[in-house]
Amino acid sequence: MKQVFVSVPGPWWTRLLYLHDTPIKLGVRVLVPLGRSTRVGLTVAAEGIPVENNSIKLKPITKIIDSVPPIPEELMKTMEWFSNTWFSGLGIASKVMFPTKFLDGEELCPLTEYEKNNPDNYRVNYIYEENDAKRYERYAEIAKSSSAGTMFLFSEADSAKKFWNLLPSGLKEEGIIWPTGATKQWTQWKEARNGNVKFIVGSQSAAFVPLKGLSRIIIEDENSGGWLTQKNPCFHHRSVLAARAKFSNAELILGGRIASSKAFMQNSECGKEKKDIQKRLIFVNLHDSSSFTVDAVKDSLPISKPLIRETLTCRENSKWAFWILDRKGYAGELYCRDCGEPLRCSHCVGVMRWEGKQKRLSCLSCKHHIPIPEKCPSCGGPFLEGVRPGLEALTERASLILRYKYKEVLLFQNESGKLPSCKSLIKDYPRGALVVGTRKILALTDELPTGMIGWIDADAEARITEYDAKARAFALLYESFWRGMDPERRKIVIQSRRPDRGWQKGLTRGWSYFWKTELKERKEWNLPPYSPMLKMVMPKGTGIDFAKLLDKESLEYWAAEESSDEIWVRTRKFSIIKKYLAPYFDIKNTRRGFPVTRLYLD
Ligand SMILES: [Zn+2]
Ligand SMILES: [Zn+2]
Repeated sequence: MKQVFVSVPGPWWTRLLYLHDTPIKLGVRVLVPLGRSTRVGLTVAAEGIPVENNSIKLKPITKIIDSVPPIPEELMKTMEWFSNTWFSGLGIASKVMFPTKFLDGEELCPLTEYEKNNPDNYRVNYIYEENDAKRYERYAEIAKSSSAGTMFLFSEADSAKKFWNLLPSGLKEEGIIWPTGATKQWTQWKEARNGNVKFIVGSQSAAFVPLKGLSRIIIEDENSGGWLTQKNPCFHHRSVLAARAKFSNAELILGGRIASSKAFMQNSECGKEKKDIQKRLIFVNLHDSSSFTVDAVKDSLPISKPLIRETLTCRENSKWAFWILDRKGYAGELYCRDCGEPLRCSHCVGVMRWEGKQKRLSCLSCKHHIPIPEKCPSCGGPFLEGVRPGLEALTERASLILRYKYKEVLLFQNESGKLPSCKSLIKDYPRGALVVGTRKILALTDELPTGMIGWIDADAEARITEYDAKARAFALLYESFWRGMDPERRKIVIQSRRPDRGWQKGLTRGWSYFWKTELKERKEWNLPPYSPMLKMVMPKGTGIDFAKLLDKESLEYWAAEESSDEIWVRTRKFSIIKKYLAPYFDIKNTRRGFPVTRLYLD
């Protein structure tokens, strides 16, 4: 009898051991008994992993599903790499990368031999171009001239659709737009695997399709946060796709409006940016601009003369104007003027936002809401006052300022983040409108003829505490110059306390200037992309013991203030961390739960 290692989709790292009377090829699907039922898994190599105790009586494999490996070698290698780099087991990696029907053991015709790419074919190229339409044209040129398998991957499904619609119909017959829905995806997955598809246009869900003859992977908007998953397992699509390009000797093309920190670190000559945005950029210093008082709120709203002037000009030309502020509701908080206490959530002590229209306070942490109290719950004082006016107050003010000329002021701030369709907006407001909302409304510039975008408080966009706050704020403001239709004619008004200073300097000097300054700082502090940061949330009560293991290796780590089970490490020594984490990911710990890891590479 031969011993066979099998990886079954599941959160553990353990490779399970079974018996079979003859050797089985690696990378084929097998049906195995597990607990009281049977599961489909992949046969895998044994090295460097926790193995089940040999004293347990081994069970035989129930059935071999594939005669030859059903997945091309490059994807199997990508799966191994995924698992090693992103602190996940092979089981999770396979679940992320392959369709459910595949892992259910549905039958497939044997994979015919792929013609392998010459190793010289692997290279990294860059397409940085601010104007979306021009950049998409360059991708379309690639689609027209390509003779072999190409993947066009977009950070948002809507962008993929938009690019697809630009392609001539003759060309569309050779490729596919990656469908939504498991059934359609499974059909197309098999078509691509069998070599009936020349190119794929899609987003994250198309990243691991076994496209026969794959020789080029294009990652559009590579700097987008959308490539890093929000849910468990945490992984960055760009990083896994870069590995896939290497394993398949495919050309990797990184594209977008601006480079990511990682791409810029690897090649600071990677792109030429446009620097002629000065004539449409208006910086306003909040210290010497006009501000308006808001009813029952302590702080005033900064609405400068240039902002009003540009909004009026924009509306005179029947274009759409946007005012962006990162604060929903009527005011950020409500507090008592007598005792100075802010009103806190009675359930969780969280910060409560004042939502004016509904006349209520709403907890930002637990969503609990209460009607606005008559007096202070702490001291009974009758004077309650808001602080930091929000979007509702801003909309009210905007309507007052514009009321004699333009009545169309729209507020979009609903929790679901769903925006009305541009088609319906154009139908309802053929002469445009002023839209007020959070950064989410930038998506509307894709299809609405935009005349101006105003950042009410640009500093606030960078006020989060994460290490990449400035980079995110910069990319966001930069995006407002370029996203959507006819961007080169729109004006951008930036209200700030430090206009054209700090991270904002890059707006007038270009994104390579921004990255040079930012990366210098990150290097000094040893932050990503120079040193990866790993966050581990250990199973309840195990954090302290795990930290002791890190002490032993003299690794630099720190625990979160709120919980000793949340541990951060800054290290390149992934193999050591893996060694210590492995026992926590043993299948025997299923009941206790497994650690949750999050890795920041750039
Ligand atoms: Zn009070
Ligand atoms: Zn609460």
